[in-house]
Amino acid sequence: MAQAYDIIIIGGGIMGCTSAMELSKAGYKVAVFDKDSIGQGPTGKSSAIIRQHYSNELTARMALHSLQVFQDFEDRIGGECGFTKSGFMALVEAKDRAGLEANLALQRKIGIRTEMLSSADIHDIMPAMKTDDLVAVAYEPDSGYADPYLTVNAYAKAARRHGATIYQDTEIVDVLFRRERVSGVSTTKEIFTAPVIVNCAGAWGARVAKLAGVEVPINSCRVQVAFFRRPAGHEAGHPVVADFINATYFRNETGGLTLVGLIDPSEADAIVNPDSFREYMDDQFVLEAGERLVRRYPAMELSESTGGYASLYAITPDWHPILDEVPAGSGFYVCSGFSGHGFKLGPAVGLMVAEMISDEGQPTFDPSIFRASRFVEGQPVTGQYEYSIVG
Ligand SMILES: Cc1cc2nc3c(=O)[nH]c(=O)nc-3n(C[C@H](O)[C@H](O)[C@H](O)COP(=O)(O)OP(=O)(O)OC[C@H]3O[C@@H](n4cnc5c(N)ncnc54)[C@H](O)[C@@H]3O)c2cc1C
Repeated sequence: MAQAYDIIIIGGGIMGCTSAMELSKAGYKVAVFDKDSIGQGPTGKSSAIIRQHYSNELTARMALHSLQVFQDFEDRIGGECGFTKSGFMALVEAKDRAGLEANLALQRKIGIRTEMLSSADIHDIMPAMKTDDLVAVAYEPDSGYADPYLTVNAYAKAARRHGATIYQDTEIVDVLFRRERVSGVSTTKEIFTAPVIVNCAGAWGARVAKLAGVEVPINSCRVQVAFFRRPAGHEAGHPVVADFINATYFRNETGGLTLVGLIDPSEADAIVNPDSFREYMDDQFVLEAGERLVRRYPAMELSESTGGYASLYAITPDWHPILDEVPAGSGFYVCSGFSGHGFKLGPAVGLMVAEMISDEGQPTFDPSIFRASRFVEGQPVTGQYEYSIVG
């Protein structure tokens, strides 16, 4: 006899685990399946920057809610998330100044602590930053970064405490239907039944949707990060910096390292098979990332490269996720396509998934802008910037 659950979640990344925690806390009998292990996919490789700078009210509110969870993680979730409050700076070009100011007004309206900085203020916070080309800089003193692996595992543990079962090393190979509704999954081990299935498969999201006969525009794209050891005199570190002028972001990493990645819409072009792509970093990337870093942080000319890796973004055409029951009434929910900026939103997303499924009362965050049909309706989610990942 197949094991029966109220809800089956496919994927044990941040979205699968936050959803499992919220749903099991709400009283549902939940099972999470991952073909590998918890956080082993892109979540564990995330730069895990937690900023609130978004240009849509909904995503900004989701980021603020999630930051509050990261700040108070032990009490609210239990365990550790490794949140480090380093501050966050967004540096933009003259053409984006008006957009930045509009974003800050929107963010302040909903309670986010953020301000514009003068060059003198910037040097107080990061003396080594080169500022002669800067026209506008936004700063969030409360933002920072977390440890993605600790975070996702703490959520998995919390889900278990609320009664969820987690099956690792168990791949979903088919989604089963009875009439027009899902009825369960078949896996590499056995069959499990449930009237609700949530696709939290990230970069595998389109592939898993296809098992249910659903097409979603989610591409799996290869992205890289590099690490550099800061030279003597710079051990203390710096805030998280999103440098839109040089299309890079960087943050502290333990061991006196600085982690660097790109903010580049062309990353969406590097479509790969999520099961077979180069997981090591290209030599060319170290040169490119290092050069861009030095333009903003000249002292890093003397830094030492200490490696890096490649992982995956799950990118949709508008760089926002799909969070929807597709088709309506089927019991098959898609919660994938977080387009390189999902980690920080994880706590809010878990709550949204639980509220969508329980469908009681007014939701904390209305997920309708993330409906799957927005692409065919010609109503993508739009932001203020051409740097789509900012959201
Ligand atoms: C290098 C990098 C840097 C990033 N930096 C940031 C950042 O600074 N801030 C931020 O907010 N976000 C960042 N992100 C994005 C963020 O990490 C992702 O949006 C988020 O982790 C996605 O989580 P997920 O749960 O949707 O998917 P994933 O972490 O991809 O989890 C999906 C899981 O599904 C499993 N799975 C797939 N198919 C099946 C199947 N058939 N059966 C069972 N299991 C299956 C996989 O094994 C995987 O574990 C970054 C991402 C990367 C790669």
